[in-house]
Amino acid sequence: MRLLVVEDETQLADALSEILKRNRYNVDTVYNGIDGLDNALTGVYDCIVLDIMLPGMNGIEVLRSLRSEKVNTPVILLTAKSEVEDKINGLDCGADDYLTKPFVTGELLARVRALTRRKGEIIDENNLDYNGLSLNKNTCSVLWQGSDVKLSLKEYQIMELLISNPRQILPKERIIEKIWGYESDVEYNNIEVYISFLRKKLASISAPVQIKTARGIGYSLE
Ligand code: CA
Repeated sequence: MRLLVVEDETQLADALSEILKRNRYNVDTVYNGIDGLDNALTGVYDCIVLDIMLPGMNGIEVLRSLRSEKVNTPVILLTAKSEVEDKINGLDCGADDYLTKPFVTGELLARVRALTRRKGEIIDENNLDYNGLSLNKNTCSVLWQGSDVKLSLKEYQIMELLISNPRQILPKERIIEKIWGYESDVEYNNIEVYISFLRKKLASISAPVQIKTARGIGYSLE
């Protein structure tokens, strides 16, 4: 899953991004409202952590522009204690949640999880399940009837995307945007390599699913 952190206090921004990355999210970090809006408008994010007081354009303006462009990515606002008015304003403008600084990181992670729940059945917060096949975040592995196989980080991220959107064709372009970012120079054949690793690993535990190729478009989990 891909997250955007928009926060001008660089130390806080970098600390947040580090924590989120450790929890296997892909994170882009920007330090002002204008870059925040630019990035957010791409629509590739699963959740945006948006500070209110920002140079360039404040968080409320970013949020308002996003919603007026029909980008409905969940947004968590970060507010200072003194910004109660802004908080109310933010919720009125379509924020999904807010956190008052200072906050503990566990709380941020819980809010992000709550806003990024996916269609894949979630057994607990560390497992995504489809057809009895389970993807575990803590161990970075897939499990089927007592057999499991470890995945590399990229394999995990691709599998997470597939298992969260079962039976849907995911275009290669979308996979790249989600996992490597929309400015990356990763090529389609890089994905093909990861998909072939994943297929071998799924086969090695006789998983009851297949990654199908939609020719010229992308992949789906069936
Ligand atoms: Ca700020």
